[in-house]
Amino acid sequence: MYAKGIPVASSPYGLAANENPHSPLPAVQDLLATEAARVNRYPDRFATELIAALADRLSVPASHLAVGAGSVGVTQHLLHSLLVAAGPLQGRSPGGEIVYAWPSFEAYPHLTAMCGGRSVQVPLTDHRHDLEALTDAVTAETRAVIVCNPNNPTSTVVRRQELERFLDRLPAHTLVILDEAYREFVRDAEVPDGVELYRDRPQVVVLRTFSKAYGLAGLRVGYAVAHEPVAAAIRAAAVPFGVSSLAQSAAVASLDAEHQLMERVDTVVKERHRVREGLLAAGLEVPPSEANFLWLPLGRRTHGFAEACAAAGALVRAFPGEGARVTVGEPEANDIVLAVAAELARQN
Ligand code: PMP
Repeated sequence: MYAKGIPVASSPYGLAANENPHSPLPAVQDLLATEAARVNRYPDRFATELIAALADRLSVPASHLAVGAGSVGVTQHLLHSLLVAAGPLQGRSPGGEIVYAWPSFEAYPHLTAMCGGRSVQVPLTDHRHDLEALTDAVTAETRAVIVCNPNNPTSTVVRRQELERFLDRLPAHTLVILDEAYREFVRDAEVPDGVELYRDRPQVVVLRTFSKAYGLAGLRVGYAVAHEPVAAAIRAAAVPFGVSSLAQSAAVASLDAEHQLMERVDTVVKERHRVREGLLAAGLEVPPSEANFLWLPLGRRTHGFAEACAAAGALVRAFPGEGARVTVGEPEANDIVLAVAAELARQN
C-alpha cells in the first residue's frame, strides 16, 4: 500500500466533492443563527433581495435572473422547460437532445433523462472540450448544448476565441448553457466571463452557484443569467419556495462580503499551484487546472490511488478506470495527497 509511513488523519478530509474547505464567514454564521428563529415562516418566493443583489453585482436586469436550489436545481428547471411537453420553451414535441462533452458533470445525463430527453455525449480530446465535434453533434433535435467551463472533472477550460467561434457557427436558436460553477477560481485571462458573453448573445445562458467559491454548498443556492424569454421560462418551471430563507439571506450576506471570500479563493488557487507542482514532480500527468480541483488521469491505477488516499485520511473522487478528481482542500489534506503521490512514484 502506498500509504505506508504516511500519518493518518483522525477523521478523513473530504476532497471528493469540490467543496470549499473554509467554514462560512462568522458574520454569515451569525446571520443564519438569527434567521433560524424565523423558519416557521415561508421564504420570499421571488427571492427579491437576492435577485436585486445579483442584478446589482452583475449589472444585469433583475428579469434576466432565476434562482434555484443550487445550480443543479436551476439546471433542472431549464431542462424541464426545454424538454417536457408544454414546457415554456417547448413549442415543438416533447423530448429532444441535450448535447455536452463527456466526461463532464454527472448531473447532466441524470437531469436530461429525468426530463425525458436524450443525452448526446461528445468525448473530450486531451481532457478538453472538442468544440468542432460538439458543433457537428448538433441536429434539428438539439434543444441545448452544455459547455462546462471549467469542466468538471477535468478542470480544463474553453477560451474566448474558440468559444466565440463556436457560438457564431451554431444555429441562432440553439441554446448554449455555460455552466460556470467554478468561474471564481479561473485565473487564465483568456477564459471568457459568460456574463459578458451573454449580454449580446440571447442564445447564451450562464449558470453560477454559491456552493463553491462562496462556500454555501449545504444551503443549496445557485442562479442563471439569461435573456427573456429563457429566464422567464426557468422561473416558470421552478419549484415554488425552492430556495430557503436561510439560503437567500446567506447568499446576500456573502455577496456583501465578496472581497473577503475572494481572498479565500486566492488561497485555494495558490494551493492548487502547489499541489499540481508536487504531483507533476511525482511524475503524474495533471492537466492545468482553472478550478478548485485537479484531474489525475490514472487509468487502471485510479482505484489504488484513491484507496491509498482514503487509507491516509483524504477522500478523493475515483472515476473507475479513468482517473481521480482531487479537490484542493486544507493544506494538511493536500499534503496527504502529495505524500501518497510521492510514495506511488517511489514504488514505480
Ligand atoms: N455544475 C458543476 C460543473 C458542478 O461541478 C456542480 C457541483 N458539483 C454544480 C454545477 C452544482 O452545484 P450546486 O448545485 O451545488 O450549485
